Amino acid sequence: MTARTAIDTAAEGGIATYEAIIIGAGIGGMYQLHRLRGLGMHVRVFEAGSDIGGTWYWNRYPGARFDSESWSYGFSFSDEVLQEWEWPEHFAAQPDTLRYLNYVADKFDFRRDIEFNARVAAARFDDERTLWTITLENGAQAAAPLLITALGPLSAHTMPNIPGVGTFEGPAYHTARWPKEGVDLKGKRVGIIGTGATAIQTIQTIAKDVGHLTVFQRTPNWAAPLHNSRITPEEQADIKARYREIFDHCKTTVSCFIHTPDPRKALEISPEEREAFWEKLYSEPGFGIWMGNFSDVLVDEKANALMSAFVARKIRQRVKDPKTADKLIPKNHGFGTRRLPLESGYYEVYNQDNVELVDINETPIERITAKGIKTTDQEREFDLIIYATGFDGVTGPYDRVDIRGPGGRSLKEDWTKMPRTFLGVQAEGFPNLLMILGPHTARGNIPRNIEQIVDWLTDLIAYMRANGIKRIEPRTEAIDMWAEHVDKAAAPLLSSRIASWQTGINRNVEGRQVLRVLGYNGSQVKYRRLADKVAAGGYREFIQSS
Ligand code: NAP
Repeated sequence: MTARTAIDTAAEGGIATYEAIIIGAGIGGMYQLHRLRGLGMHVRVFEAGSDIGGTWYWNRYPGARFDSESWSYGFSFSDEVLQEWEWPEHFAAQPDTLRYLNYVADKFDFRRDIEFNARVAAARFDDERTLWTITLENGAQAAAPLLITALGPLSAHTMPNIPGVGTFEGPAYHTARWPKEGVDLKGKRVGIIGTGATAIQTIQTIAKDVGHLTVFQRTPNWAAPLHNSRITPEEQADIKARYREIFDHCKTTVSCFIHTPDPRKALEISPEEREAFWEKLYSEPGFGIWMGNFSDVLVDEKANALMSAFVARKIRQRVKDPKTADKLIPKNHGFGTRRLPLESGYYEVYNQDNVELVDINETPIERITAKGIKTTDQEREFDLIIYATGFDGVTGPYDRVDIRGPGGRSLKEDWTKMPRTFLGVQAEGFPNLLMILGPHTARGNIPRNIEQIVDWLTDLIAYMRANGIKRIEPRTEAIDMWAEHVDKAAAPLLSSRIASWQTGINRNVEGRQVLRVLGYNGSQVKYRRLADKVAAGGYREFIQSS
């Protein structure tokens, strides 16, 4: 049956009704659509962008690429896809990833069930009819008993709260809204605000092309080499032969990456052994230096300080000017306590004559002007400004949709202090609202987490259909238990005490200045085990109504 679009139906004066609505056509929305089609359900996906891809659709900034090994990142559900697709590099660039997602969308004809340019502005639950009605920004509506959010944890980008943003007369782009047609930076005077993972990739990529680059840094981040390379034909054949092994291995690691902590403790071995291991990690590709480090580095302050000192030495070796090197070394957080950016020649960029680092703690930005950026000591003129200022993580995308449960209960208001969920898949008081990568789920190598959650949600929906259950919501006791467990799991980690998007901090958003751990840090292995136990027990943690 060909689905009427919400817009078609609205034009006819009705509301298109489906068995499930999915918000978002990124990796999560695409896979959830695939699985619900498998149950024979009539599903509609609403996507704000003009095409599929989510993160990889929006983030087209220069140098955007994976920090996950490409071959551990793609969908695992189709052997045909795994054998047909060839990743060109061990860490693929954004255009390749978007090409990959398009290839999968074409192969499974996903677009026929997706409505594009359809940003969802609101969702209301009708208690009597057990029905969610969504309203798009253009006023069109659609309804379904099940509403599934695949919003992505990093889709609500934030502009800096600096006076004068918008008054600059030249082009200015947030990295998450980089123009599709690209931007010619050759010879231009460019100013960039931010030094997170996105900025680092952008800076190292554009520094060679621009005329002059000024980097405005508020907080330096620890970064380590990516060591990307092309995949040789022999490696390609080996990867294809080992896909099942690779994905099975990812299921056994803390964050679904291929890396796993070394059981040794940095504090219990000799300085020579420690140093040799860190040198090895620093020379190897990917997140090994973060996730495959000694078991005490991310939980013990002393071990962490030693590791930080090791990386600081590397920065000093790579950056010629000692003052600049010092500015690039973080002082307010230890190595790996914020999401580690991986870099390719980032530090060497500061040895170039056309690159200037401005520490805005020394000379704060006063305002964006018509011609450029004015700090307390001077105004610099630019042809173009780049805002690499990040995202209102995890809850931000939910806050931007006016979601109302029974009695008009607002999800945004509920989550002001701290989201309350069960397993991060359902919020307290919002029946039949199912979340993919909601707050307090395990997050790491994202597609692996998505597949686990989507498979789990699909089993839950199949169970509801098989048992005539029309409405489901978690019990308060289950939510209390999960909140306590999330807290307990976060407590040992140094990162839980450090401001970052992972702890809910965004200085550009009102009310986002207080630490709130937004992930589940008890390892995805444990998460999977707990979630599977809930399913095997007949979902007793949920109130189920027929
Ligand atoms: P981010 O890590 O939050 O960095 C934002 C940067 O902008 C920070 O340096 C921040 O400084 C600065 N900033 C924000 N507002 C500012 C203001 N008003 N004035 C001055 N500076 C300001 O964001 P991101 O770099 O976009 O990365 C977010 C996440 O996306 C990453 O942690 C990662 O999970 C993901 N990501 C992944 C990849 C990949 O897989 N390869 C690549 C890029 C991003 P403060 O630190 O002082 O706030």
